[in-house]
Amino acid sequence: MGAEQVRARFTELYGAEPEGVWAAPGRVNLIGEHTDYNDGFVMPFALPHRAVAAVSRRTDGVLRLHSADVDGGVVELAADALAPESDTDWTAYPAGVVWALREAGHPVTGADIHLASTVPTGAGLSSSAALEIVVALALNDLYELGLERWQLARLCQRAENVYVGAPTGIMDQTASACCEEGHALFLDTRDLAQRQIPFDLAAEGLCLLVVDTRVQHAHSSGEYGKRRAGCEKGAALLGVDALRDVPYDTLDDALARLGDEEEVRRLVRHIVTENHRVERVVALLAAGEVRAIGPVLTEGHASLRDDFRVSCPELDLVVHTALAHGALGARMTGGGFGGSAIILTDSAAVPSLTAALEKTFTEAGHTTPRTFEATPSPGATRLD
Ligand code: ADP
Ligand code: MG
Repeated sequence: MGAEQVRARFTELYGAEPEGVWAAPGRVNLIGEHTDYNDGFVMPFALPHRAVAAVSRRTDGVLRLHSADVDGGVVELAADALAPESDTDWTAYPAGVVWALREAGHPVTGADIHLASTVPTGAGLSSSAALEIVVALALNDLYELGLERWQLARLCQRAENVYVGAPTGIMDQTASACCEEGHALFLDTRDLAQRQIPFDLAAEGLCLLVVDTRVQHAHSSGEYGKRRAGCEKGAALLGVDALRDVPYDTLDDALARLGDEEEVRRLVRHIVTENHRVERVVALLAAGEVRAIGPVLTEGHASLRDDFRVSCPELDLVVHTALAHGALGARMTGGGFGGSAIILTDSAAVPSLTAALEKTFTEAGHTTPRTFEATPSPGATRLD
C-alpha cells in the first residue's frame, strides 16, 4: 500500500491535498498470549502489512472518514457529538481515537481522513490497532500534541475498550506504535517497559510463517470476557493485583490454594507458565539460540488449547500438520477461536509445509488457509 496511492485518493475525495500520510502496521505475537490483561509479558513484532492514512486538519469540528476497503462513501461525524458505542461500524475505530484524544483534553478540532490497509481483518493480526494508531499518530503530528508512542497506545486502547466496546489489552496498540524493524518487542504490559530484542530469522535460514485459518474470531463475544473474568477471580482468590504477581516457582503452591476451583486453576496455570515462556524466549534470543524457541512456542499452544481453551480445530490442525512436517515449533497467535497460527521452520521447508497444510485442510473440509512469511517490520511512521 503506497503513500502516493492513498494521497491521490484523498485528493480526489476531499478536493485538496492531504497535509501528510502516515502508516501503522499490524502485528503478530511471537509468545505471550492473553497475558496483556493480566499485567504480564508479551512479545509481538510488526508485520509488513499496514494501514496507511492520508489526513488533514479541520477547524470546524467536522470529522470525515473514508476507507478504501469498505463499500460506501465518506462518513461525516461531529467531533463534539462523538459518544461511546454510538458507531457500530468500522468508523468507530478512527472516531474512537478522536473521542479519546478530546476526552483527554487535546484540542482536536476535526479531520479529513482517508485510509487503506493491507492488514487482514479479523485474522488476529490487529487490523483494528493499525487503524487506531495510524490515526492517532497523524493527529499527534498535525495538532502537535507531543504525545509519546506509549501514550498514543494507551489512548487507542481506551478508544477500543470504551468507544468501540471491545475489552482488549494494551499489546496490539503498543506493538503497532513501538515495534522496530528486525526486532521483536519484549513488553511488560504493567508499566509498558520495553526492550527491543533482535530477531533475525533469515540469518539462521529460518522463516516464521503466518497461517490465517480464515475462521473469523469474535473478540467481544462472551468467551474472551469469560477468560478475563476468570483471571480476575484467580487473582482475587490468590490475593494479588494481577496474575502477573504469581511467580513461576510458586505455581504449585498457588494451584493448591485454589482448591477445587478447577476452571480458575487452568486459567492461572496458563498465565503463569506463559509469562515464564516469554522470559525463556527472551533469554534464548538474547543468547542467539533462535532455533531453540520452537519447542517453547509449541508448549504455549498446548497451554492455550488445554488450559486456557481458546484454540479451535483449524488452529490445532495447523500446529499438528506443521510439527508432523518438521517445523521447529508452532502455536496459535492472537486471541484465539480462529484467526492465525505461526510456524517456525527452516526456510527450505516452506514449500512442502504450505502444500501439506493445503492438503490436510482440504481433507478435513476446511477453507484453504492463507499463508505468508512474516519478517519483523517497522512500527508506525510518517511516510510523507
Ligand atoms: P483484528 O484486529 O484482529 O483484525 P478486530 O475485530 O479487532 O480484528 O478488528 C477488525 C475491524 O477493524 C473490522 O471489522 C473493521 O471494523 C475494522 N477495520 C480493520 N481494517 C479496516 C479497514 N482497512 N477499513 C475499515 N475498517 C477496518
Ligand atoms: Mg483487533
